[in-house]
Amino acid sequence: MPITRQDCEVRDQQDPLRELKSQFDLPPGVIYLDGNSLGVLPRATLGRVQEVIQREWGQDLIKSWNTAGWIDLPGRIGDKIARLVGARPGELIVADSTSLNLYKVLSTALSLQQQDAPQRKLIVSERSNFPTDLYIAQSLAEQFGARLHLVDRVEDIPACLNQELAVLMLTEVNYRTGYKHEMATLTQAAHAAGALVVWDLAHSAGAVPVDLHAAEADFAIGCGYKYLNGGPGAPAFAWVHPRHVARAKQPLSGWLGHAAPFQFTTDYQPAAGIKRYICGTPALLSLAALECGVDTVLAAEPQGGMAALRTKSIALTELFIALAEARCGHLGVLLASPRDARQRGSQVCLSLQPELQEASYAVVQALIARGVIGDFRAGNPADLAATPHILRFGFTPLYLGFVDVFDAVEHLFQVLQREEWKTPQFAQKGQVT
Ligand SMILES: *Cc1c(COP(=O)(O)O)cnc(C)c1O
Repeated sequence: MPITRQDCEVRDQQDPLRELKSQFDLPPGVIYLDGNSLGVLPRATLGRVQEVIQREWGQDLIKSWNTAGWIDLPGRIGDKIARLVGARPGELIVADSTSLNLYKVLSTALSLQQQDAPQRKLIVSERSNFPTDLYIAQSLAEQFGARLHLVDRVEDIPACLNQELAVLMLTEVNYRTGYKHEMATLTQAAHAAGALVVWDLAHSAGAVPVDLHAAEADFAIGCGYKYLNGGPGAPAFAWVHPRHVARAKQPLSGWLGHAAPFQFTTDYQPAAGIKRYICGTPALLSLAALECGVDTVLAAEPQGGMAALRTKSIALTELFIALAEARCGHLGVLLASPRDARQRGSQVCLSLQPELQEASYAVVQALIARGVIGDFRAGNPADLAATPHILRFGFTPLYLGFVDVFDAVEHLFQVLQREEWKTPQFAQKGQVT
């Protein structure tokens, strides 16, 4: 029996998380499948940011650093994010961008290894990791006289866990394919080989349950504007296991990471704990918006929190895959994400059969014109068979339902069946894809 729209309506009615959608202002007629790139606007954000601007900044001015608790905000929001990733209060800080936080923690990890095991000169990551992670690692490899080795397949990682390895740097959920690593298993294997592990949680925080302590992770960083709904360019976060945090300085030794910033001393003395990972003055308005976004995820706690969100996310992605294959398989649609839900984050990527590869970008544009917002990630033009163009769809259980998934696949069917993607305007590429 094919799955009907009515079946999906029933599933939405039975969904214990359905009320969480009322936390957001989604434009009418939009099915938003891009929360993995930029989360949607929470209803509370506008009022909160307005309050910060009008009252805290406009009226109370500089007093607000104390009276409105501005100075504590990086730690206060950090404690909230900690609840989503298995960290404890006081261990996680909000600051800067993901790229900068990666620079800080990877540098710290490398300097710890320089102290403890100077013969270890290798950073290992994946060729398919997000480019900024690789670029930052390249820069630090140069600085530390280390080498960055990139593996092409997940199965190649265990062979790299040897006496040469200093740091294993992985993104838990791959931004292109949605592949999800086994964090605990890989961390333990790396530790057994004497290495440290840096986890990038950009596509994990707010998307999948993470337990940094259970995994005995060393360092983690993540992004505020994806599944945490913090708004464009929202500040990012950094976590360091308590066993490491006081053992090394991070390299961006700014004054707000000082043990006593308001003593204005000449010499840098890092704060005792994770606060040393703060550099300069935080972007307060962005922090206020980020807190509203994080609160939308924490709002699921009474219904089971991240575990409940994960259950729904898997149900949504399984439905999407089943429908996409049933309705669009004969039109050339292929699954480009792992089929096993345990190996998948909260996204599903499709690709098109080889003859349609060049249509991939226009298909995404035609879908967007129909109100179904996903995105396109370019493949390797030299080898599209191995790394095809990807149609990427993120599923955020906070604001998506089963009918949305049904309708999204119907739109994809129409775009392909009617060859709507052939409309010339859909081939025009913007600066941001
Ligand atoms: C989104 C993302 C980033 C973003 O970095 P910015 O500093 O915010 O630009 C970094 N790494 C990964 C793996 C990402 O998915």
